[in-house]
Amino acid sequence: MTIPFLDLKSLNAQYRQDLIDAAVHVIDSGWYIQGTELKAFESEFSEYCGTKHCIGVANGLDALTLTLRAWKELGKLKEGDEIIVTANTYIASILAITENRLKPVLVEPDEQTYNLCPTKTADAITSKTKAIMAVHLYGQLAPMPELMALSDQHGLLVLEDSAQAHGAAINGKKAGSWGHASGFSFYPGKNLGALGDAGAVTTSDDELASTIRALGNYGSHKKYENLYQGVNSRLDEIQAALLRVKLKHLNAETRRRKEIAVAYVSRITNTALSHPIPATSTVELLENHVFHLYVIRSAERDILQAYLNNAGVQTLIHYPIPPHKQQAYAEWNARGYLQTETIHQQVLSLPISPLMTNEQVDTVIDACNRFELG
Ligand SMILES: *Cc1c(COP(=O)(O)O)cnc(C)c1O
Repeated sequence: MTIPFLDLKSLNAQYRQDLIDAAVHVIDSGWYIQGTELKAFESEFSEYCGTKHCIGVANGLDALTLTLRAWKELGKLKEGDEIIVTANTYIASILAITENRLKPVLVEPDEQTYNLCPTKTADAITSKTKAIMAVHLYGQLAPMPELMALSDQHGLLVLEDSAQAHGAAINGKKAGSWGHASGFSFYPGKNLGALGDAGAVTTSDDELASTIRALGNYGSHKKYENLYQGVNSRLDEIQAALLRVKLKHLNAETRRRKEIAVAYVSRITNTALSHPIPATSTVELLENHVFHLYVIRSAERDILQAYLNNAGVQTLIHYPIPPHKQQAYAEWNARGYLQTETIHQQVLSLPISPLMTNEQVDTVIDACNRFELG
């Protein structure tokens, strides 16, 4: 039987009765939008992240888009301002920037972490740079102490894209609490996943929080009064209630992800592939990585993927085409970001579901170790 990349059905079945009870509670309440479940989730999630505010929105893309929009409304950004972001990120990070008619400045990532590197970020700063979008790709926190130092030095806003990094931390300070604001996604496959679309912004800035809240609610801060030409982007009561159930289990699930990561790095010894973390890693040392994905690299990635598939291990590629090669950004297609392109040719994500049994982990390890380069 094939080991699935991620079995959402089984993952949610663990909490089936609690999820049903939470959904029924909302159904019976007669109140489905902007109610007590959302309020409670917002307060629980901001406490989890260590921020003053959490604003529920419809999805992770909206969390990023509305934050940038709010900074425009508050006069902190204007059309054409440059935002530094990694060239290898998931396209949603970039969509949030271009939707606001801001200018993404794509920089090559650090080859080891896939995240922004402080030196390359500093090199990309111009007089037009107004913000840094720090994506915590694959679940690993970007180098936030260094990026915040750059932000202080140059007066830049920092928006974290924490869609893959719920709970990742450096010295106990979690994703979502480092930048001036952070966007989270609760897409079903994320580490904290709803049973549908959902997202949130975390921030400790009062003015920013109330502006985002208004923008996501038709631009209204008060019923029937509209400050902005807003949108409708809200987190439904039923999803908030389900997320409250799942938030309680997030730390345990993250710990299991880390155990699997440590098993992979210490026991997959095949030199035909490389690991995202040092071989000496322990669960305790891995504070800054929550393994949304365990991404290995191989020069023979496609052959390795076919081989693992035959061996009963489902893998995925995150991501096959970088944003600058997408048709959506045809004007960038001729540009070369060589490190980013190499990464996209070589990466392969192994299964790392918290539900995997030790036996399944062993199967993945054995299969990887038996792979021989052609
Ligand atoms: C999933 C994801 C998003 C978008 O979140 P949605 O909820 O799917 O809109 C943004 N950035 C990154 C890095 C993501 O992985």
